[in-house]
Amino acid sequence: MKKPDFSKLKDFDVKKAAKDFVYGKPHGERRLGDLYVPKTGLYKHREWRGIKDTMYYFNNIWLYNYGMIVRDLMVYGGGPKGVVQFLKGTWRYRWMGQTYLTVLHWFDRCLEGMRGEALKGSAWHFRGIVSACLYQITGFFNRDINIGGDPALRAKTIGTDETVWGGIIYPYMDQGAMYLPTQMIPYFVTCHCNNHTVLNYIDAAQAYGLPGDPCPMCQAEAGIFIEDDVPDSYVAVITTNEACDGSVGTSVIQDWMMNKPLFAMPQVMQFDDDTVLENCAKEIEMAWRFTEEQLGVEFHWDELVKHIKLQNQQNLFEREKWDVAANTHSYPINGVAQALYRIFYSQYGERPFWHDVDKRVRKIMEKCVNEDINTFPMTRHRVIAWSCAPLYYSAWCTWAYNCWGLNTIINMDSLMFDLEIRTDTYENCLMDIAKYHEWAPMRRMAVGGLQHIFELWENMEKFNCDMVMMYDQLQCKGMQGVVGLFEDEFRARNIHAIWMPHALPDKRTVPRSQIRQIINDYMFTVMGEEPLDPSLLDFDDSDSW
Ligand code: SF4
Repeated sequence: MKKPDFSKLKDFDVKKAAKDFVYGKPHGERRLGDLYVPKTGLYKHREWRGIKDTMYYFNNIWLYNYGMIVRDLMVYGGGPKGVVQFLKGTWRYRWMGQTYLTVLHWFDRCLEGMRGEALKGSAWHFRGIVSACLYQITGFFNRDINIGGDPALRAKTIGTDETVWGGIIYPYMDQGAMYLPTQMIPYFVTCHCNNHTVLNYIDAAQAYGLPGDPCPMCQAEAGIFIEDDVPDSYVAVITTNEACDGSVGTSVIQDWMMNKPLFAMPQVMQFDDDTVLENCAKEIEMAWRFTEEQLGVEFHWDELVKHIKLQNQQNLFEREKWDVAANTHSYPINGVAQALYRIFYSQYGERPFWHDVDKRVRKIMEKCVNEDINTFPMTRHRVIAWSCAPLYYSAWCTWAYNCWGLNTIINMDSLMFDLEIRTDTYENCLMDIAKYHEWAPMRRMAVGGLQHIFELWENMEKFNCDMVMMYDQLQCKGMQGVVGLFEDEFRARNIHAIWMPHALPDKRTVPRSQIRQIINDYMFTVMGEEPLDPSLLDFDDSDSW
């Protein structure tokens, strides 16, 4: 019989193994890439983060969020009926059926390698996003006449383009009015949870005869309607030209498919022009009159002010967060969590679940600041991400920190809605609402003119960033024209910038692995640095959600 080989045990450091078990391996020794099942991006086993953080992840993130998903369905859906409607909707709509099981895997991807307060702060942001999604999903399914929804609820509901700010419904919320952005969940959120789902809708738009070169976001949003995969949960629609004429094209196709009363609420294309803004304000008033006619509701000024004040509170807290992110090493939220949370609540509008999350995050952030906790201790570079991000790989921030110590402090989308809306008079309030619309997603800094696109430089300074991740949406007409201008400026200002090509929702154009390769090449050849975790340099996640 062969003698057992105990020679390896000679080098085994019991003390170190015990320490790793209790506290988790230090960054640099983790080899997170070894955890993946090839191609799938799934884990062979869960990441061991030390006793405390593993227990926190298992109980307070994994179990808690599964429990809360059921709770949200019951509360927002009006009891067991909401669960039944949810099951029917999951069966009926492809985007729902393909993404509900992948939600917690999305958490895993975006929270990989996080520890301590950064893990907690980031996870609460995801909890807020999921709660907001379920609020909308139950809103859709409870009203959807395709699956036996309630026509009375549907009669009080307006459908909108996802870039129409949810505040448009504020004056009517006390009368049971509901606002449902028709693309936010079926398109935007699903790209994050399962990047395969959207491809079907892009292909549907092209199979319909549309050319393949325009923005894939607009193609996908049209494709959902072409495939008849949108709940029939609203009686009328408000569209807009945000962010560009690609969206106008989408709205035209959607209009054919929806065949409902529709109000097109144009937003200014001539930026920073007060006379044009006045016209925009008139269009917003017309959208309100349209809503009143279609839903049978009245304009309640006090209700509008109530919600705007609450929204302003959220924005003030956001500025406090930016202050901590800019001036300390104690900001407990990772790049992907802060970006998605901010864009979601600013666009969807004020609701109670955001305030609940903000309260919890405030507590965590105050603890970090008071105890001077370094939340991302392996930060080598402070990164600002600019332009429109790849929706199929928003978790690149988490990967870049784990692999290279690139810590994404802030991104362009988060900075766009920074406006405290005045409520002292109706006129001031209306003008600020018009401006808020003007500053909506992709508009101010992507197609809002050179002055706004170049706000990058002042934000780099403000947030103490030494590197730019320059998103390059290959099919975005707005940003295509400015590549050369940015390159000139980067050279003249001696700024390290990595260009990240992508096609927004379409992972086939630039796969995730290619994005990682571009960053790896820059870090090796230009920065002359070595990775913190070499196991993450190259792995195949092509089939991953
Ligand atoms: S990514 Fe560019 S092309 Fe696409 S909708 Fe936004 S601004 Fe328009």
